[in-house]
Amino acid sequence: MEKKIDLRNMTKEELAVFAEELGEKAFRGRQIFKWVQSGADSFDEMTNLPGKLRERLKECACIGRPQVLKRQDSKDGTVKFLFGFEDGNAIESVFMKYKYGNSICVSSQAGCRMGCTFCASGKLGLARNLTAGEIISQILLAEKETGEKVNHIVVMGTGEPFDNYDELSRFLSMVNDKDGLGIGMRNITVSTSGLIPVIGRFAEDFPQVNLAISLHAPTDEVRSSMMPVNNKYPIGELIAECRKYTEKTNRRITFEYAVVKDVNDRDEDVRRLADLLKGMLCHVNLIPLNEIKESSGSLKAGSRERAIEIADMLEKRGVAATVRRSLGRDIDAACGQLRLKAD
Ligand code: SAH
Ligand code: SF4
Repeated sequence: MEKKIDLRNMTKEELAVFAEELGEKAFRGRQIFKWVQSGADSFDEMTNLPGKLRERLKECACIGRPQVLKRQDSKDGTVKFLFGFEDGNAIESVFMKYKYGNSICVSSQAGCRMGCTFCASGKLGLARNLTAGEIISQILLAEKETGEKVNHIVVMGTGEPFDNYDELSRFLSMVNDKDGLGIGMRNITVSTSGLIPVIGRFAEDFPQVNLAISLHAPTDEVRSSMMPVNNKYPIGELIAECRKYTEKTNRRITFEYAVVKDVNDRDEDVRRLADLLKGMLCHVNLIPLNEIKESSGSLKAGSRERAIEIADMLEKRGVAATVRRSLGRDIDAACGQLRLKAD
């Protein structure tokens, strides 16, 4: 049997062409897009489509929908999901409640090939890229499961989004579509380990989307020991590219910094970090390392108090910094941890 086409992975424009291929008017594509992006699971729900078209769709199309393999609810309202796809791959998403609205952290790949030593997501390498539809499914399913609307998206789950740029960009266009979820570009943040060649493209394609860079260390020596990607794209070049990004977009970059005891949290590290970032339109987001037992070496978390001290030291040197609130601690809501446990 021919493989059915997954409508959840199609843009409004692609669906218009598809409708015409089925002998229908193009506007039917827009109607289908609206249904699929509002979380419809069956063609019978699509009551404004002619019965004949619904029957035709049942034959040749499907609406991809992962399964909820696991759901964990935290006392603070955070909900962590493990979603499973048909091919057996599983990924996780975390739904969070903030004062300013609901946010979701989505995965962009099943696994990750970047191999950061402190990160659970990369421990099993990369299984495969997710499609735009699979990234969107995480939002649609989380909304359905929680009964809440998502207002903000962070692409900070499993995977390196800039290693799956084509699907990431289709995803961004689709969630932003007024006929779909309609989430504003400024309400979306993409986090990367620093794939330099993609940063310029991203600035060009999505200047309104927030960019976060996982920095984690102020020197090549320490950063390379934590993040192998630094061997290919060293700090000096990365920071130069970031400065270009801020000049071009006039948008503030967030630098993620996981505080690791005696590795990147000494006074001299903080001084170096301040020198590196001085004068840039940016902000440092500190978080005590989330220790994972699979971590190679013996990286230990810096304390929250030390993270606050570092933020103060940076501020005094003219670099904006905050300590991230960590939600969902009681359910291990950090990247990759649930997926590893399930394996
Ligand atoms: N691959 C992208 C996005 C996913 S990781 C990236 O690396 O930016 C999302 C964030 O979680 C990154 O800032 C990453 O460095 C951080 N992270 C991963 N494991 C962590 C851990 N054990 N403790 C604290 N932060 C962690
Ligand atoms: Fe991949 Fe990001 Fe984890 Fe590094 S921190 S292994 S880039 S998901």
